[in-house]
Amino acid sequence: MTPITGKTMLTGIIGWPIRHSLSPVMHNAAFQALGLDWRFVPFAVAPERLAEAVAGLNALGVIGFNVTIPHKVAIMPLLDRISPEAELIGAVNVVDSRDGVLTGYNTDGIGLLAALHQEFGFDPAGKRILVLGAGGAARAAAAALGSAQAARIALANRSLAAAYGLAQELGTRLTGTAFSEHGLGALGDPAFLAEFDLIVNTTSVGMAHDSFPGLSLAGLKPGLCVYDMVYAPPVTPLMKEAAACGVPCANGLSMLVAQGEAAFAIWTGRTPPEGCMAQALAALPSPGNP
Ligand code: NAP
Repeated sequence: MTPITGKTMLTGIIGWPIRHSLSPVMHNAAFQALGLDWRFVPFAVAPERLAEAVAGLNALGVIGFNVTIPHKVAIMPLLDRISPEAELIGAVNVVDSRDGVLTGYNTDGIGLLAALHQEFGFDPAGKRILVLGAGGAARAAAAALGSAQAARIALANRSLAAAYGLAQELGTRLTGTAFSEHGLGALGDPAFLAEFDLIVNTTSVGMAHDSFPGLSLAGLKPGLCVYDMVYAPPVTPLMKEAAACGVPCANGLSMLVAQGEAAFAIWTGRTPPEGCMAQALAALPSPGNP
């Protein structure tokens, strides 16, 4: 890498915990590939110190930073501006702090769309999609897929109330998409599953090699694809089930890379060399948890 100089630009990521983050590897590889005198550093920020940390990063002239669990929603009132995408999603995963003005963006949604295109050539327009989950990642997924004119988005979640709230909220704002909410019990019903073109897991189910009880992907719609946002382990039980049933599937690494590339472009105005971030991750002994 270029040596750190008096002109080195600093970026990073705030989260709690943060030791698992793969973002420093991706971003520092891209800075190096482009010969930029920039660095990306992880910052462990406890929830009760978020406001102090954001003010401090701004005062130190940090160009921008990623935001991860548990700060994606809590940071919003601390920012000067929120992009329309982040406002619709209700969460921020990228802050640009140039000139002291803090602007929040969300690149998780466009990262997912890019990953679906890359992995499956999937275009959400007119499609019927089952989103597993109703947390922050589900908000990004459902907002992006709805904005890309999906015909139907069914939200299946452990907490039905959370799925109901998200379906109601997005349904009033993205009127071209039919939103519905379901409990996880619906996953045991082949007739329910039969209409979907895509299933996206946005929950943490799979990280502990766990699975959705009763979910079988046998005999579903031809052309069905499965995208699992989890990437550690690299092959989740949901992906094993898909593979066993001949359903194309992919893990969340491509989304991680795509959201990172979009953040990199916001900060630097440059696009990382194609494949640079993905290769940096592939060179790791084993991907950590998200
Ligand atoms: P979150 O806001 O805490 O939401 C967690 C979701 O998982 C909720 O829907 C929750 O259901 C569900 N859930 C948790 N444990 C469960 C269990 N044992 N059984 C069934 N459902 C369970 O977290 P998040 O920010 O959405 O992140 C969720 C996952 O997506 C994480 O694994 C994260 O790493 C991953 N992610 C990946 C990327 C990527 O780039 N690949 C980007 C963002 C997130 P309840 O509502 O019922 O609690």
